[in-house]
Amino acid sequence: MARIFVPSVYRKHTEDQSAVDVRGTTVRHALDELFHRFPALAETMVDEDRELRSYYNIYLGDTNIQDLSGLDTQVTEASEVWVLLAMAGGSGPLLSEAELTRYSRNILLGEVDVLGQSALKEARVLLIGAGGLGSPAALYLAAAGVGTLGVVDGDRVDLSNLQRQVLHTTADVGRPKVDSAREHLLALNPHIDVRVHPVLMDAQNALELIAPYDVIVNGCDNFTTRYVVNDACVILKKPLVDASILMWEAQASVYMPGKGCYRCLYPTPPPADSVPSCAEAGVIGAMAGHMGTWQALETVKIILGAGSVADDRLVLFNALAGTYRTLKRRRNPSCAVCGEQPTILRPYDLPQYCQAAPADLALELAEAPAPPPLPVWTDPQADDVRPADVASFVGVPDVQWIDVRESYEFDRYHIPGSRHIPMSEITQRFREIDPRQPAILVCTVGQRSARASYALRRAGFRRAYNLRGGLQHWINEQLPLVSGGAAR
Ligand SMILES: [Zn+2]
Repeated sequence: MARIFVPSVYRKHTEDQSAVDVRGTTVRHALDELFHRFPALAETMVDEDRELRSYYNIYLGDTNIQDLSGLDTQVTEASEVWVLLAMAGGSGPLLSEAELTRYSRNILLGEVDVLGQSALKEARVLLIGAGGLGSPAALYLAAAGVGTLGVVDGDRVDLSNLQRQVLHTTADVGRPKVDSAREHLLALNPHIDVRVHPVLMDAQNALELIAPYDVIVNGCDNFTTRYVVNDACVILKKPLVDASILMWEAQASVYMPGKGCYRCLYPTPPPADSVPSCAEAGVIGAMAGHMGTWQALETVKIILGAGSVADDRLVLFNALAGTYRTLKRRRNPSCAVCGEQPTILRPYDLPQYCQAAPADLALELAEAPAPPPLPVWTDPQADDVRPADVASFVGVPDVQWIDVRESYEFDRYHIPGSRHIPMSEITQRFREIDPRQPAILVCTVGQRSARASYALRRAGFRRAYNLRGGLQHWINEQLPLVSGGAAR
């Protein structure tokens, strides 16, 4: 038997009692009984793992139990156990006057109140990417008062980002995204701390970057990073708020420690370049905004311990249809990273798409005479060519047009006379390309084809060109296309 004193704000959960007599021989037993009798109090004070949230301190008499035996500290009938709210720095108010005013609409919610707002202030959230998803997520988390925001992004702001990456403005084009992010987030809320990591997250730095944070928000746009982040979060037991977008469809879920991971759903990534990235496939900005704010909301719920986070389901959103579906999701006991017998114990980078050519082919290529460079108007030595400069080579037998998009894209339309070798197969199909003739590589916006022409040149093809701007620029200049079997 011991007497537990409860903070006054929680008396609404204890039938208005400020002190409750409970049985038990240790502090842990005493608290267990308290929570058993008042489940609403438990919901406020413990997290999903039934652990006491970090902003509470338990005292036995006038001594913090951390200085005794922690939760295993013995109690007797005469023991007085005090539940105290941790104060920043040990004294002073949790929130300043300015913060109380700024966050008043949060605090009015019963699920937040002053203590929840203080928990948001104490929380550290890492955003992977300051792009389409990361921008709205970061803005709303900063506005909500999440005290420490980390931003990982190795890119610079590009004009083509601004259509969806609302954290950056026209004046930021060319600047590192993390710098622009930090400036705009602090302009929105000077009470927070923004830590920037101007790097691309990979297997080498993932554990170190993720470790100091409480919740990870994934806004990456490629499979290598997605798997690295997933594996690192499982290994470090960090909640991962995940979302991904492809054109008009999105998938999202929350991976809480012990409740399954991205690999449980998709054990291995698709072949390199078989799925177009966002830059390739296109996306309406509001779509990224929609999912990024969903991520911000789930993150706030995790920090507050409020409601039911999407940790047992996959949320599917179809923007064109305007519909949502949720699918049940479970941990896969044989998952390679979060299963019973994990085989992935450290994050690793996915194998690179551009392997070297086989040795005999490389030799053959080295000995073959190089074709003359294409007489393009811009720069005869250029690796990439503009649509207008090479349009006259359509149908010319000595020039190879190679379209590296996927079949469904190629079937919709392509440049007349072009051959189809998808990016995912290009390294296996080098032999189908004639090294004695120039090759022009084509895709939608010129990203996959840039990688393909690089792979070809690395393998020894001396006249491999990338069609700059891809079919998007080609179409814009109204150059010839075959669509559905008919020229237009
Ligand atoms: Zn898993």
